[in-house]
Amino acid sequence: MPEWFYLGVTVFLGLCFGSLATALSWRIPRGISVSVERSRCPSCHHALGIPDLVPLFSWLALRGKCRFCKAPIGWRYPLIELVTLFLCLLLYARFGFSAAVLLMFCLSPVMVAAADIDFAVQILPDALNLAIGLIALAVMGVNAADTGDAQSFILSHGLESLEGMVLYAGSFFVLRQGAMLALKKDPLGWGDIKFAAAAGVWLGPDLMVYAWFLLAAGLLGIVIALLWKAIKKEAEFPFGPALLAAFVLMLLLKPPPFIIQDYANISLPFFQPI
Ligand SMILES: [Zn+2]
Repeated sequence: MPEWFYLGVTVFLGLCFGSLATALSWRIPRGISVSVERSRCPSCHHALGIPDLVPLFSWLALRGKCRFCKAPIGWRYPLIELVTLFLCLLLYARFGFSAAVLLMFCLSPVMVAAADIDFAVQILPDALNLAIGLIALAVMGVNAADTGDAQSFILSHGLESLEGMVLYAGSFFVLRQGAMLALKKDPLGWGDIKFAAAAGVWLGPDLMVYAWFLLAAGLLGIVIALLWKAIKKEAEFPFGPALLAAFVLMLLLKPPPFIIQDYANISLPFFQPI
């Protein structure tokens, strides 16, 4: 198949996943089932059809208004769709096109919805953290099936994931307890610790990766805190989006060994190729 075919499929899936991300970020905080109900306009509750739900294009064609009641539709929705599409394109550019990469595309709506929900209500939902961890296991399973010795592939990489989970979640828990003793406040929510567990399943026990992850999350957290203070005038800021962005960065810069792919076209100063 030519390159443009894979790129086309990636864009198509990216837009579909963008639509899923908006549905997740609207429905999860409100406790609405993701699978059963049809999407409705939040203002007039009119059931939405295909012309209202084409990612990006519907919003542009309807000029950001509901087709039925003309209530404005926030810019958050096209932005969520755009970021989800962008993440899929990044994964495609980095890892190419395979069954495992298609599974990795599923990460993008989950992560974008998690970041959006954390910005909106300061919660990283359990279901999304769980999904991030499970997608890692699915990718591992698909890649194991591709190798000659699936059992030892899963045993060795599964053990690394377990170690990573303990390292990330354990250290975040210790950090939280320490900060609560020292500062008498709660700097990390349970959602952040559960996300750290899921990130550890992906990133494994490599201490170099762990250190860069912490550094990136810390720096991004400071940026979000400053913006939050300037715009929202609140001292308590969501840390989840910084963790999610740092996770994506590490996944792209130093992918775990259970993601089988071609490292030839990337070289980074501080990482040795595997
Ligand atoms: Zn409406």
